Amino acid sequence: MNGLDFDMGRITSIIGERSAKKVGLQFPAGLKRSGLKIAKETQERTGAITYISGSSCYGACDVDDVLRAYVDILFHFGHAEMEPIDKVVFIEVRSNADIIPALRQALKMLKGDSIGLVTTVQHVHKLDEAKDFLTKHGKTCIVGRGDSRIRYNGQVLGCNFSVACVNADEFVYIGSGDFHPLGIALATGKRVIVADPTLNEAREVEPKLILRQRHAIIAKALDAKSFGIIVSTKRLQMRLGMAEKLCQKAQKRDIDTHMIFMDEVKPEMLAQFKVDAFVSTACPRIAIDDVALFKKPVLTPIEFEIVLGERDWSEIKFDEILGGTR
Ligand code: SF4
Repeated sequence: MNGLDFDMGRITSIIGERSAKKVGLQFPAGLKRSGLKIAKETQERTGAITYISGSSCYGACDVDDVLRAYVDILFHFGHAEMEPIDKVVFIEVRSNADIIPALRQALKMLKGDSIGLVTTVQHVHKLDEAKDFLTKHGKTCIVGRGDSRIRYNGQVLGCNFSVACVNADEFVYIGSGDFHPLGIALATGKRVIVADPTLNEAREVEPKLILRQRHAIIAKALDAKSFGIIVSTKRLQMRLGMAEKLCQKAQKRDIDTHMIFMDEVKPEMLAQFKVDAFVSTACPRIAIDDVALFKKPVLTPIEFEIVLGERDWSEIKFDEILGGTR
């Protein structure tokens, strides 16, 4: 199906082994359109009743707990497990896309000798092939080990670039989209070349534009007298301790702060709160990806510390949710 492996054989055998009668299916936005087909095939193969989660699903941090409570098994598609959760089975949906044409383009752009290889879970099984290809062309490849939030060596999340803590001259990111490679560029200060197997092209990411945008947002928040500190209710996005500390720091400076618990952080929901600016301790992508949609500045915790005068502007990088060592 679309070059993606939904692992139907594994799904069928897990349902059989556990004699599951009620099966939940949860997909992120890009895979939801496959939901009906997967549900039908699951029913035909196993006789189980399927229930599809129609709610948003942004990552392995975001499991549909209401559906999970109701079913015998919940299959969560498109993400790698961060920590075991009762009844939840993660189906990673690996891509069959050929990575070599894009890597060939990337190779022409590489300047250094040692290359850090990073990717998302969709291509993580191709890292050995990528390593072989670049090694044959004279490069030394390093695949970093991430922290406990990361399941595979070389795997990045939008909130975790711990695998990029390696001593490489530059990085090759295998995947599409610019968020992850920009995060790596800002976290490491190194060049990052995207080898995009969907478009069969390579490009270098340029963090200057996003930095300019973030500077503008921080500058707007400097005069704010009141802040809403957003705390996510999603199980592996919640950073309550961090939110409480930020509140205390701000209150010491006579800045009015309020903690706001939310499941979905949407512009129309923030509009209900009459504060001058917000800080998101939820998914680090929200403040960056949705910047054009928010009417008021939404800062990351790092950016808020710059507003408070606790960090230098030069320390701007993407916010991360880090785990322990593994
Ligand atoms: S916190 Fe955000 S970036 Fe991290 S896994 Fe969840 S959805 Fe993805």
